[in-house]
Amino acid sequence: MGTKASELLPVEEARARLLALLPTPELEQVSVEEALGRALDHDVMARRTLPPWDNSAMDGYALRAADVSAGGARLRVVATVHAGDTPTRAIGPGECARIMTGAPLPPGADTVVMQERVELEGTEWVHVPEPPGPGLNVRRRGEETREGDVLLPGGTSLGIPEAGLLWAQGLRHVEVPRRPRVALLSTGDELCGVEEEPRGRIVDTNAPALAEAVRRAGGVPRVLGRARDTLDDVCAHLRRAGDADVVLTSAGVSVGERDMVRPALESLGVTLDFWRVALRPGKPLLVGHRGRTLFLGLPGNPTSSLVTFELFVRPALRRLLGHRDVEPERVPGRVSTDFRKAPGLAHYVRVRAEWREDALWATPLSTQSSGALRSASTASHLMHVPAAVSALSAGADVELLPVSWRG
Ligand code: AMP
Ligand code: MG
Repeated sequence: MGTKASELLPVEEARARLLALLPTPELEQVSVEEALGRALDHDVMARRTLPPWDNSAMDGYALRAADVSAGGARLRVVATVHAGDTPTRAIGPGECARIMTGAPLPPGADTVVMQERVELEGTEWVHVPEPPGPGLNVRRRGEETREGDVLLPGGTSLGIPEAGLLWAQGLRHVEVPRRPRVALLSTGDELCGVEEEPRGRIVDTNAPALAEAVRRAGGVPRVLGRARDTLDDVCAHLRRAGDADVVLTSAGVSVGERDMVRPALESLGVTLDFWRVALRPGKPLLVGHRGRTLFLGLPGNPTSSLVTFELFVRPALRRLLGHRDVEPERVPGRVSTDFRKAPGLAHYVRVRAEWREDALWATPLSTQSSGALRSASTASHLMHVPAAVSALSAGADVELLPVSWRG
């Protein structure tokens, strides 16, 4: 693997190569609640036809459309049907039934006129002034699902509506990929724990921050601790990764004398797939694999590690959760000020974006230092400025990536 600028991988290519390394996920049977945020492995079939009967979409009157001519009709109210009732009284010519939303249509009726569209004449008669289209305001039997049909195809991401469809079928368990186990290792001689008095050291914020990002992305984090910048100590800690699906290291991955992550991975038999991406912040990203385990060496700068998490780790975790579409979400926006950068690296600029009049307007935060977490705090999006671009004028169209780390 080379280190020349010409060999920096474009972000999209790096992500595609990383995703291609992922193994087929292992499956488990879990409750629908537990499965939310993952994707179905295979088709789920409907075993109930829903709604089970034609029913009313409105509070109104159930009638026979053919009874109402161009000049209107006067109909006799012969029954009242509430949701939960089973109507047996058939509606004959010249008759109708008072009906509530969700109530089954009585036999004979084919149409519902909403109550605001009729005139009551005493308690027993209604005047319907205009002919309704046949079938108006009727939810048809089987409109939602039919027994034996595919209810949700394999690969469907399970959100709340999908869970509702499953529950309505009486399905309480589904087969989905198990949550990926993610081991986290901080490296650096300068680090101390959050609970410690630093005394000249730097608090390891990456481990708890990345653990939280992993949890938000649906993975199960496990912190391996802090390794010193020696080959032996980094290796010793990495050996404790056990059965992790993904190992995330932080720092020690650039070209400094004490950057031990790459030699440690090599000495543990990890195949290094690529190193360094044409990206700011986050250039020194290292990716490798051994068996089913994926290794990602993230940069140590706290903001760089969060940006690389968004661009690479989160998509990988989503793929391991079974989702088909794992590319970071993007929305169109406009930049509110002129922006300049050197060509060569794609920049993911921390911005605060607000909807004003006709567009999502992005304002770059005043500090963009990858070392300063301040530069990620209050950011709502990352503004993508492609590698080849060197200047944007105020008002230019841009691509904005909502960040998952927001409060
Ligand atoms: P490195 O990638 O080792 O050159 O580290 C880059 C910068 O990130 C240095 O300023 C480190 O002190 C800082 N850093 C490294 N690891 C962490 C961590 N776990 N938490 C917070 N800052 C870190
Ligand atoms: Mg270091």
